[in-house]
Amino acid sequence: MRRPRRLPGRKAWFRAGAILWLLLLLTQIYRWSSTSLRDREWPRVNGPTTIRVRLGAAGPAPWTLRRARSRSEEAGLLGDVLPTEAPLIRIETRKGHLHVGGRDMGREFVLDVPEPGVEIDVNGKTLIYHGRLAFSAEPDARPVLTLPLEDYLAQVLPREMPISYPEAALEAQAIAARSYAAAQVLRTRRRAFDVVDDEFSQVFGSVDHRTPRARSIVNATRGIVLSYGGRVLPGFFSANCGGHTRPAGDAFGGKTSPPLSGVPCAGCGWSKDFRWSTRVPLSTAVRRLGLSSRPDQVRVHHFEGDPWRSSLVFELGGSRSSISARRLRRALGRRRIRSLRLKGASLQHGDLILSGRGFGHGVGLCQQGARGYAERGWSAEDILSHYYPEAVLAILAP
Ligand SMILES: [Zn+2]
Repeated sequence: MRRPRRLPGRKAWFRAGAILWLLLLLTQIYRWSSTSLRDREWPRVNGPTTIRVRLGAAGPAPWTLRRARSRSEEAGLLGDVLPTEAPLIRIETRKGHLHVGGRDMGREFVLDVPEPGVEIDVNGKTLIYHGRLAFSAEPDARPVLTLPLEDYLAQVLPREMPISYPEAALEAQAIAARSYAAAQVLRTRRRAFDVVDDEFSQVFGSVDHRTPRARSIVNATRGIVLSYGGRVLPGFFSANCGGHTRPAGDAFGGKTSPPLSGVPCAGCGWSKDFRWSTRVPLSTAVRRLGLSSRPDQVRVHHFEGDPWRSSLVFELGGSRSSISARRLRRALGRRRIRSLRLKGASLQHGDLILSGRGFGHGVGLCQQGARGYAERGWSAEDILSHYYPEAVLAILAP
């Protein structure tokens, strides 16, 4: 039997279609590779290659260290202090001196730890670090880790943004975090450390938090920072801006530079942090806020010109008590009071009901907004130029 004639024609169409699709794909791949952030020419800006992190998570002395397991054991690690058959080392303070494995090492002790690192046991958790670890006999001192800035970022990125977020959002986050870190190093050269390892700087995880995706994103943006006026711009960021980012000067005091002056954000409305509400038992509120009695009424007072500056005004049987949003957040916790941008307050059935917008300080990049924009097809560069207007991408040069 003969096949109908039009079949080969259809095949040819399919073939042509497939070739066209392949060409489009190749063009796209070429565009992606040729516009990859790292391969572009950027202006240079002065900045560091290493950073010193105060390891608050490691707790105070004594510290118990153990060689981290690795496929290929690094010979010599801890070797001069620690015989290989006893892979545990204890660092403790006695009469103002550090005693390492029983030996008096004076007031300071520095350990160079190559990969795979050293494990520190603290409160039943095991943290892993590599880099230069400095221990001090000062009361309440924490170890300070010096490590390459890019290694630091690979341990920050997965703690600061869900690693499942779109690539453009993660790249923007990596650049913002690098800019923040570099600016801190430049600012704090004379102190014993540049950043802390929690949200007061940026959350720095143990080596085991680092994922292949985090490494690859950090690598794809290696050395790239935000700059303004020829200097590294501190790339502040927060979880959710509630619809408009906050001028840096309003949040932290001091002068606000144009890239940190605040912009509208249409990317973060999808999140439950955009518009939040919380219910606090009135007895808890009275106790934690130090009110003299149970309030009869409550309202939010807004200060003009800054929606992030607000306070709660309680009516207490003839007297009035005003509590700033900042104090409220400290007293009730940052999980409950997600931002200082209060919207409403009421009393219902023995509970204090509070509502607000956003999560965090609201300055700079809005992380959930970055995800929203990335899902609409924005690139990391688009996202950064939106949140930091007038900032210029640059490459760190020592
Ligand atoms: Zn936002």
